[in-house]
Amino acid sequence: PGSGGRVRTDWEIHRRAILLHGVGDIDPESLDDYLAIGGYEALRKAVLGMSPEQVVEEVKQSGLRGRGGAGFPTGMKWSFTLPLKAPEKYVICNADEGEPGTFKDRYIMEGNPHRLLEGLIIAGYAIGACKGFIYVRGEYALSMHRLRRAVEQARERGFLGQRILGSTFSFDVEIRSGAGAYVCGEETALIESIEGLRGNPRVKPPFPGVRGLWAMPTVVNNVETLANVPAIIKNGASWYRSFGTEDSPGVKLYQICGHVNAPQIVEAPLGLTLRELIEVYGGGMKDGIPFKMCQTGGASFGFFTAEHLDTVMDYASMQKKGGALGSGTMLVMNEKTCVVDVVRNIMHFFQHESCGFCTPCRRGTRVLYETLCRIAQGEGRESDLSLMVDLAQTMSATANCALAMSPIFFVRTTIERLKDEYLAHIVDKKCPLGVCSA
Ligand code: NAD
Repeated sequence: PGSGGRVRTDWEIHRRAILLHGVGDIDPESLDDYLAIGGYEALRKAVLGMSPEQVVEEVKQSGLRGRGGAGFPTGMKWSFTLPLKAPEKYVICNADEGEPGTFKDRYIMEGNPHRLLEGLIIAGYAIGACKGFIYVRGEYALSMHRLRRAVEQARERGFLGQRILGSTFSFDVEIRSGAGAYVCGEETALIESIEGLRGNPRVKPPFPGVRGLWAMPTVVNNVETLANVPAIIKNGASWYRSFGTEDSPGVKLYQICGHVNAPQIVEAPLGLTLRELIEVYGGGMKDGIPFKMCQTGGASFGFFTAEHLDTVMDYASMQKKGGALGSGTMLVMNEKTCVVDVVRNIMHFFQHESCGFCTPCRRGTRVLYETLCRIAQGEGRESDLSLMVDLAQTMSATANCALAMSPIFFVRTTIERLKDEYLAHIVDKKCPLGVCSA
């Protein structure tokens, strides 16, 4: 999907090894096409030849980490839920992709929905679940359509339903639609939403793996995470570990967007540098205008400046430098971009999407946004800068969910790394680039 006119890189052409294998080449609405590229072989191997414990162990050994953004080890998450005795267990695929600039899960769901479905069924087998849900972002109509078709086809051919492939394992999947709330991508708000309640995040712990949907043990995994699973089961953990770094094995969908010549999705082993992503895959800076900054990991994390271009993009290295791999989105900005304008814009998003449930987030996002507006309009004070950092820190420490924990990353890194530009707005009482007042 969406490949018209964009530059295809060497990796895309030759190395669509795992996540994008088949995407753009097969008919996403044909189960036969998926079978022809080895589809459902991993499911067969798992349910007919491996115990749930062996499946969990293989995923643990692979080092796969959650691709929604947090990078929690997937095998470990499964291993918490597997031994629990409960009347029912569930597995939920979080497909409520809402991080600004992030569109990787959509690419998988539209391009090869059976790969996700196969990963989800294997996850269900591994933890002993009876049912799976895919909670799809409301705006993703085509993803929903293709997933529904894939579920019907899988049922018809015995990959879903009673006694899958003649084994003792029975499992079914239901597709649910989100309704446009960013916060419903937070796993516990998502669970509330499936239960038919307002999408307010729950306090963690207990984590869903212990007490989730309808108070039953529930594993929640992102689309890209599950899409890795068939390849891991089919080829083994050590094969998977041959890609990527020690800290972050495997492959990742990186999304490069913003001021580059070829914004796109790239499947690559974890451990590219930001410079490689921009120059090799993104086709370089657009119109040759020099790089200024990059918001890492989506909208929730810190900014990198030119001195960070050679940082290896794995979970640990990014975090050490004040950024994050997050969902793999790198929003690249050139020298003509004003940092105050960008941060104000991001803050507007968070203020708008705050669910209003807890005070630190409801008021904090509002105050941060209003302060940034004042600075942008030339009415800021120098003390606003430390006040914003203190407030974002307090929100992070006291709010109910991850939404209000995000501003500290981009507020702190931009004030630390691009302080002169904030000060120019405050001292000269205008935007030095003429962007904010435009
Ligand atoms: P988190 O670190 O609280 O949890 C990550 C996962 O690990 C969850 O499934 C959680 O249940 C599990 N977990 C964590 N600690 C555990 C423990 N001790 N025992 C058992 N399970 C445990 O992060 P989060 O709040 O779920 O997610 C925040 C992330 O979401 C951010 O990194 C952000 O990038 C990302 N995000 C992604 C999108 C998107 O569209 N992909 C949108 C918004 C935010």
